[in-house]
Amino acid sequence: ASWPTSGELQVEKLSARYSATGPKVLHSISFHVKSGERIGIVGRTGSGKSSLTLSLLRCIMTEGHVYYGGVPTNKLNLDALRSNITIIPQMPELLSGTLRRNLDPFDQHDDVILNSALRAAGLFSLQNEMDEARLTLDSSISSGGNNLSVGQRQIIALARAIVRNSKLLILDEATSAIDHKTDSIIQSTLRNELGSDVTILTIAHRLQTIMDADKIMVLDVGRVVEYDSPQVL
Ligand code: ATP
Ligand code: MG
Repeated sequence: ASWPTSGELQVEKLSARYSATGPKVLHSISFHVKSGERIGIVGRTGSGKSSLTLSLLRCIMTEGHVYYGGVPTNKLNLDALRSNITIIPQMPELLSGTLRRNLDPFDQHDDVILNSALRAAGLFSLQNEMDEARLTLDSSISSGGNNLSVGQRQIIALARAIVRNSKLLILDEATSAIDHKTDSIIQSTLRNELGSDVTILTIAHRLQTIMDADKIMVLDVGRVVEYDSPQVL
């Protein structure tokens, strides 16, 4: 069977630091996310929100256990782990080359699939058919994605998550810098176009962004201080 079969996440006593001699930035945190749950994560600047996402991808040094889709992530190779979790950061970095390459770096999918992911992610509803500057699979993207707007980059990152069929999607302040229309397209993509087995962690500064989450996690100085449904909090 192909892993991961679900987007379930089990975190046990996870601590993290940026270097062997550096201070801990997460202090033995534990929580469980069911497959398909939508979790909002809030906390003040420096509380460890981004460090938590980096820990899930094993980008920084960790202790404790993370199980993703039932498998301990320290038993997985990094490529397998990272290609099965999609992070949409505030400023998504794209690869230079075509838009097609960004969606499908290993040339595994048909254009039909790639275009339908772009449609589901909302790209086509943002652009006019007649506009010569509209993006297509053949559009070229410069290093990092500098020739695109932040919203366009986020939509492409979202389309990539759809193509990859990631079961875990993490948005780190992803929609803070974009206009209202693009934001609402992204939010409705998250609600309607992703499978009900896709787990979504959304880091937000605005409570508004995560009010319809199943649960809200509040981090404070590297600890989970609240984890419950928004009605209870
Ligand atoms: P923000 O809301 O500002 O994005 P955050 O909750 O994402 O904040 P983190 O970036 O996870 O906070 O930071 C948590 C702690 O880790 C802070 O004390 C910060 O100084 C430290 N930290 C973050 N990035 C690094 C790094 N690259 N090297 C060393 N320490 C870091
Ligand atoms: Mg952060």
